[in-house]
Amino acid sequence: MTASGNDPFARFVARPARFEQDAADRDARLKLASAVCQAAQSEGCADLAGLIHRLTMAGLDPVDVPRLAGLMTLDAGSLDANALTSELTGDALTLIRKALENQLAISHFGQFSSRLANIFAYARDATSGHLADYIPELAKQDPDAFGMAACTIDGQQMAIGDAVTPFCQQSVIKPLLYAFALALNGENQVHRHVGREPSGRRFNELALDPDGRPHNPMINSGAIMCASMIRPHLPVAERSELLERFVSSAAGGAGTEIDQAVYESERATARRNLSLVKLMDEHDAFPEESAPDEALDLYFRACAIRMDCRHLAVIAGTLANGGVCPTTGHRVIDSRIVRNTLSLMLTCGMYDYSGEYAFSVGLPAKSGVSGGLMIVVPGVGGFSLWSPRLDRQGNPVRGIEVSKRLVEAFPFHIFAGVTRG
Ligand code: GLU
Repeated sequence: MTASGNDPFARFVARPARFEQDAADRDARLKLASAVCQAAQSEGCADLAGLIHRLTMAGLDPVDVPRLAGLMTLDAGSLDANALTSELTGDALTLIRKALENQLAISHFGQFSSRLANIFAYARDATSGHLADYIPELAKQDPDAFGMAACTIDGQQMAIGDAVTPFCQQSVIKPLLYAFALALNGENQVHRHVGREPSGRRFNELALDPDGRPHNPMINSGAIMCASMIRPHLPVAERSELLERFVSSAAGGAGTEIDQAVYESERATARRNLSLVKLMDEHDAFPEESAPDEALDLYFRACAIRMDCRHLAVIAGTLANGGVCPTTGHRVIDSRIVRNTLSLMLTCGMYDYSGEYAFSVGLPAKSGVSGGLMIVVPGVGGFSLWSPRLDRQGNPVRGIEVSKRLVEAFPFHIFAGVTRG
């Protein structure tokens, strides 16, 4: 019997039964696993230790890449296609094959890492700038702290310096607040209440656009507005947990936490942000169902989320990868939302230096007062930096230095293509 035409049973036979599908999947994985074993052999790494070493050299240490975790459960010794098939998904096997065939986003990861290390060493000499001091926790940061990390769209990772010291993200979290608000409310609803135009003013200036909305989600008023749209009917603590869960998934499942001291200091010194809330309230800018004071509270919690450079780089990698986390392989953010988020990072992400940064670096990025910076190279990967000394626009001095050198060393500027050849 065929499954086509007017056959009344077509809908029953058109789809293979579950066990048939499972068997077909397993066959396909087994083929992939055999190809992996062959490729490993021809690359001279026929046993598990050799394969793991080779992957690590390519930037894919299975300890840092959850989708390769199955490798760690295999018995040591020579590679066996059946065992690989049992422990790894098709996606993981494809990734390993790409690594063995030098087909990853960055094919010569060792060379790439050493060039990044040179850029890092060069930027370390930049010691100008000042710490943010509007709250004691930021004034107490180590001015010399300097960390950097990268994560490609294939999950290749590298980290240098103070890359495992958590710091509060402050405004670096704003793109995620915006992305989460979009995921929960849709584009039309969000942009009824927040614009998408650079403000041309300070990030916390008391100003709204001609329609009475905050200019964009990358400045304080716009980020508070986004916070107001995150599940407004729930208690703030639950809303904050949802946001943290979202951030954590984009960071490959990293544990996040709220820096309680930062959160409390932000609340205690909130006069400007309170004024922004009053201004927006006076203009009826908030959605009806939201409570502006709770939105502000959620915004402070968001600013106080602590994470290290390695995890921030995975978030940048998720954005570079259109919303699929490169280390877990899970879709965290819809690709259309990522496109919107990157557009606004490009035009509004670097305070009053956004136009200059878009011109000279040409990459979507977001900085924050604690010295954090995330940079996205669409379709390639993400970078994160942390260095607390800020320039007069409020951007980390070393972060700007690294950004400029990155696009000199690699063709990452989004318009680099037109200058080739
Ligand atoms: N918590 C800071 C504020 O609301 C964030 C500033 C920033 O990183 O731009 O003013």
